[in-house]
Amino acid sequence: MRKLDPGKLVIATHNKGKLEEFRALLEPHGYSVKSAGDFGLTEPAETESTFIGNARIKAHYAAKATGLPALADDSGLCVDALDGAPGVYTADWAETPAGRDWTLAMTKVQTALDDRAAPEPRTARFCATMVLAWPDGEDMIFEGHVTGRLVWPVRGALGHGYDPMFQPDGESLTFAEMDPARKNEISHRAVAFNKFAAAILGSDR
Ligand code: IMP
Repeated sequence: MRKLDPGKLVIATHNKGKLEEFRALLEPHGYSVKSAGDFGLTEPAETESTFIGNARIKAHYAAKATGLPALADDSGLCVDALDGAPGVYTADWAETPAGRDWTLAMTKVQTALDDRAAPEPRTARFCATMVLAWPDGEDMIFEGHVTGRLVWPVRGALGHGYDPMFQPDGESLTFAEMDPARKNEISHRAVAFNKFAAAILGSDR
């Protein structure tokens, strides 16, 4: 298996919340990460209909543009009573002409559930697919998810995106109420990241 040199990893995201989580996950392993923004990269269009497809687009684009290995994450909230929506379109539900509005996005989810008279608990999962791509075109895929329920009204001011609406199974706090370190132990991204760490860190090609 291919080895990854510490300090030589680009995180192919423009999402500040995700970037901070990746930093917190990678630094204990001796990686100081650079973001796509540090290299002045634009965001490629996410034209695929799967998490894997879109993560691949982002990782390969950044690896090719920088000449360095790049790690991308495509993630989203899949709500059972909405047949998995918003899923790969999770960020799109927040779009407004003035930028992304997460309160609006969470309200859309709640309204869609109310329109269907979805029973409680309104179960959902956060999914994350990570792709590590090398400039020569090789890649590796790591997936994770965390199950939970959606709460309304939303609770908490930490985190990002849909965090205030999501209460993971076995926890009394939403992602936006809990210590970020706790979220980083149990999140979909942490699960995918741990698979990445087990496969990549300290391994030889
Ligand atoms: P993308 O992966 O950049 O296409 O965006 C996925 C979207 O899912 C993000 O913009 C967030 O809105 C949402 N999302 C993914 N992970 C999380 C999370 O850990 N907390 C809250 N929202 C998340």
